[in-house]
Amino acid sequence: MLTTLRRIVLEFSQASELDQALMHLVSQVKEALATQCCSVYLADHQKQHFLLMASNGLAQDAFGRTSIGFTEGLIGLVGQREEPINIANAQQHPDFIHAPEVQEDHFQAFLGTPIIHQRKVLGILTVQQENARIFTENEEAFLVTLSAQLANALVNVEAQGLLEYHGKQSIGKYHKGIGGAPGVAIGQMIVVHPKADLTTIALTKEGDITQQRVIFDNAVIRTFAEFSQMSEKLKKIISDSSLDIFDVYKQLLASDNFKIEVIAKINQGWNAESALKLIVDSYVVKFEALDDEYLRERAYDIKDLGNRLLNNIQNLADHDQHLPEKFILVAEDVSAAMLAEHQHLGLLGIVSLTGSNNSHTAILAKALNIPAIMGVEYLAIRQLHQKHAILDGYAYQLYVTPGEALITEYQHILAAEYQLQAQVKEVEHLPALTKDGHSMSLLVNAGLSSGFEYSQNVGADGVGLYRTEIPFMNRSCFPSELEQTALYRQVLASFSGKPVTMRTLDVGGDKSLPYFPIIEANPFLGWRGIRITLDHPEIFLVQIRAMLRANYGLGNLAIMLPMISSITEVDEAIRLINQAYYELSAELPSHERETLTRPKIGVMIEVPSVIFQLEDLADKVDFFSVGSNDLTQYLLAVDRNNSRVASLYDFYHPAVLRALQYIAQISHKRNMPLSICGELANEATGALLLMAMGYKKLSMSAHSIAKVKWVIRHVEYQKLQKILANVLSLKNTMSVHSYMHEQLVELGLGDFVHARSQ
Ligand code: PEP
Ligand code: MG
Repeated sequence: MLTTLRRIVLEFSQASELDQALMHLVSQVKEALATQCCSVYLADHQKQHFLLMASNGLAQDAFGRTSIGFTEGLIGLVGQREEPINIANAQQHPDFIHAPEVQEDHFQAFLGTPIIHQRKVLGILTVQQENARIFTENEEAFLVTLSAQLANALVNVEAQGLLEYHGKQSIGKYHKGIGGAPGVAIGQMIVVHPKADLTTIALTKEGDITQQRVIFDNAVIRTFAEFSQMSEKLKKIISDSSLDIFDVYKQLLASDNFKIEVIAKINQGWNAESALKLIVDSYVVKFEALDDEYLRERAYDIKDLGNRLLNNIQNLADHDQHLPEKFILVAEDVSAAMLAEHQHLGLLGIVSLTGSNNSHTAILAKALNIPAIMGVEYLAIRQLHQKHAILDGYAYQLYVTPGEALITEYQHILAAEYQLQAQVKEVEHLPALTKDGHSMSLLVNAGLSSGFEYSQNVGADGVGLYRTEIPFMNRSCFPSELEQTALYRQVLASFSGKPVTMRTLDVGGDKSLPYFPIIEANPFLGWRGIRITLDHPEIFLVQIRAMLRANYGLGNLAIMLPMISSITEVDEAIRLINQAYYELSAELPSHERETLTRPKIGVMIEVPSVIFQLEDLADKVDFFSVGSNDLTQYLLAVDRNNSRVASLYDFYHPAVLRALQYIAQISHKRNMPLSICGELANEATGALLLMAMGYKKLSMSAHSIAKVKWVIRHVEYQKLQKILANVLSLKNTMSVHSYMHEQLVELGLGDFVHARSQ
């Protein structure tokens, strides 16, 4: 059964035409369950009905015509109840409605299962039979499993307008993602280094068969040569038997069968990538179905070989990677490093298939004011290369080859956005003072992009968070003490006379170093931040020495420790900082010793455990800074980098707000300087609530300073106290959002709660 199920899902996802795929699906399911009818209905949420798309058993004339309202008939009932419905005699069921055009009068037994993706019903899969009988538990389990797997393949069908069956042009075809950074970008898309992966290939037919055959033949030659080189190199290092795998690969590549099969597909019109995918997938299914465990595992080798061949096909077929003057960067996984690399080259926007709203890539995009959407799953990205697009970072939508009317509409949104930016810029250099005289300090988060944030022109009072990991990323080994000293000095000197809080290396999680790979099942719960640097004092000490040396004669450095989860970690880190200080002091000639100053040491409050040890921490350090990005992730147990759970990640969850309030109260009681440097401080709503809680220092991206100042300058602190009291009594996130939306509109700040300005 499992093999049948896999084959059905695989063949469904391989098909290039939806209607053909659905027809093939219903025939296969009918055969697998030895029943007399299988049908599939897809949901159209705009029209609130299910449309019969394909059936093997019902009248063909009804396909694409028969629709059933979301609350009508047995199909509607399956959708409403969101569970399988298994009935021996459907016609006697009170919800049954007669639709003569589908010609189902002779069927009695009915089993329907919903196809659901992330709580949204995408369609209904049914089987029917003439005998009045209940379908067995196994049959039901099969249909439920199949529906769950089909959901992934069907998720974009509605958005892409494929339900518009009769050739009508659908106006708003788009791909949906998750918000990365707000804003709109209109321009050409450039797809960068997609990892060769056969599973991402959308099957495509291409005109020039001869050219595709040449590409495939050359890819085989290249791949063969690569294997020979690899095994030659490795021969010197590993045992001969481990190299057998290369022979297996080479034999398969040389085998006529494999090549002939791929070429036969190319001759049918498929391009080289698609032909390869079709054949590799069919081999994988065959191998996975074998009883012999050793042979079953060879399916993995075939996939690997397929991806290596694909890599060469893509390199050979690659378009000219010359970057246009302005472009939207599209990649399977846009890393923070990739973004940093392209930021000066005309980058208009970012589309990433992976990642979520608080991934470091998204934070960097916000810092650079570049619209971004993340987690755009199920997108065949290679087909986007050089196509024109609108990227809507407010509604998290990507429109590929949009029409003129839509472009004009978005140009208006862009114009309004520029106007708002110009308006807030007027207050950039004025103090962050409320109408009733409450003063705030706005600091900048720096380190993610090179250069921009160091300029003091953005009206910041200093640096609240300097993330040191990016300079560690774009390299092939750890930077030396001298290199780090020069870099840190540049930052400290740019803000001379103003405080600069530098955070010690916080890698791990979604920030990895190419020369220090960490492979873990749960990276955000693993070896990250201070845990790594305490385990590697040689790395930590070099960094601290560099910071202290950079601070000679300037004296504006503060050091901040990330990911602290216990007092022991603080004790150990302070011991190492002291060690570095005394070593440097001993190295300096006595007349220069006074240039060396002891920096203030603080901790990030971002792991929930330390919220319950704030008093103990207060005895040890000089300041607290709340990392609300991680605090939210750990408090709510929601991976900040996982698009599937992105809707659960919310700074305005009552538990997060109450934790923030509690931190403010304890810090106030202990006279402990407190700041916040998570993304929440960038948002108008967040900044106002934090101010009301008693946070005096907000650290944010340079682009947000003017906006937040404007908002602060247009409110009364007293009024905010009342708003906060009401917010803290609310029980769920939705109520907080709608209440705050109302309040900001009432305060005349509606423009800033509109998703666009957050
Ligand atoms: C945070 O967690 O809020 C924070 C500022 O640190 P980062 O986003 O770099 O983890
Ligand atoms: Mg953090």
